[in-house]
Amino acid sequence: MNAPEFGPSRPLTPPFVPAAVYHLADLDAVDAIYQKTAPGFIYARDGHPNAAELSAVLNQLSAAPWGFITASGMGALAAAFLATVRTGANILASDRLYGKTTRLLRSEFDRLGITTQFVDTSDLVAVETALKATPTALVVVETISNPHCRVADIPELAHRAHAAGAKLLVDNTFASPGLCRPLELGADLVMESGTKILNGHSDVTLGYLGGIDADLGERAASVSSTWGFAANPFDCWMTLRGLETYELRLRAATTNAARIAAWLNQQDGILRTIYPGLPQHEDFAVVQKLLPRGAGHMLTFELAGGRDAVNRLFQKTPGVPFCPSLGHTTSTFSHPDTTSHRGETAEAKARLGITPGLVRLSVGCEDGAQLQEQLARGLAAALTPR
Ligand SMILES: *Cc1c(COP(=O)(O)O)cnc(C)c1O
Repeated sequence: MNAPEFGPSRPLTPPFVPAAVYHLADLDAVDAIYQKTAPGFIYARDGHPNAAELSAVLNQLSAAPWGFITASGMGALAAAFLATVRTGANILASDRLYGKTTRLLRSEFDRLGITTQFVDTSDLVAVETALKATPTALVVVETISNPHCRVADIPELAHRAHAAGAKLLVDNTFASPGLCRPLELGADLVMESGTKILNGHSDVTLGYLGGIDADLGERAASVSSTWGFAANPFDCWMTLRGLETYELRLRAATTNAARIAAWLNQQDGILRTIYPGLPQHEDFAVVQKLLPRGAGHMLTFELAGGRDAVNRLFQKTPGVPFCPSLGHTTSTFSHPDTTSHRGETAEAKARLGITPGLVRLSVGCEDGAQLQEQLARGLAAALTPR
């Protein structure tokens, strides 16, 4: 049960420890681990070395005093909700949240007697009015929303949430900690989907929840282990590996996205280009205030020609796969109308500006000039009906 004898050398990369169960020396050892007077692990659902290593890295990146790893981003969100609300509580949430998050609140938490009011959280007056009307436990927003890349004014939202006695949870997945650290801007809790750019290779599903208040941290970690949200060691180990290139990938992807957005904005046949780094974006002022390292790797554009043009674009741009996720090494397309917003009513789609010609691009860290050439060829084909 002793650690392997490495002598004067050590493995350069973190050892992968798949053990689910730990062999304890004696009763004093189990006491010391439970009382946290000695480091160690007992049962992997409650903690294991690869999760501990990964959470230490993500805590550092997120400026988080505490944090833990879950098996998915949704697990991290569920842990955050379960740790902050009880039956009868109210949540105030952005009306542009990730579809599964909306579903979790609307279908699952609603069933447990926890109601969520969805508002346009870019409208600070609407937020204030809602907070005044209803005692609220938690406010939930995303740093950058899908697919219109609305950027949350986190300090202003934190101020209003705290004045009303609510906590602020920020889903930071689209920005990621290299561009935005919500806890430094006043948020109480930050969540990341490690499935996206943090691991960055589309071969892991993983989540992270971090925060400031120590009691809330204990409570959230207890929720996570009791409800069984733990991530397995291999996914943590893979994400540690992905994170080695995270800063490089993020920088390249953000540079590429700014370049592609500026270029798309000049092309015929594109009805609008939505990128928070473009001065025409409705949240450009918030971006300048909160995202000094760049406006991210996500952009959206609307093709003239609707669904048929989108189909041709996807068929004629083989280097940019169509897959409804984000944060991969290469750029990927998504189509909100048929994927992320598929289940929305026509009315909701109209309100959210989801049209058949709308294309979302998760920009990768490939060569920017080559990416632009591929898109130019695809776009030419898309705009030439057969
Ligand atoms: C993907 C995603 C999630 C959920 O994360 P999973 O790891 O897929 O469970 C939550 N929020 C946003 C914004 C996401 O993109």
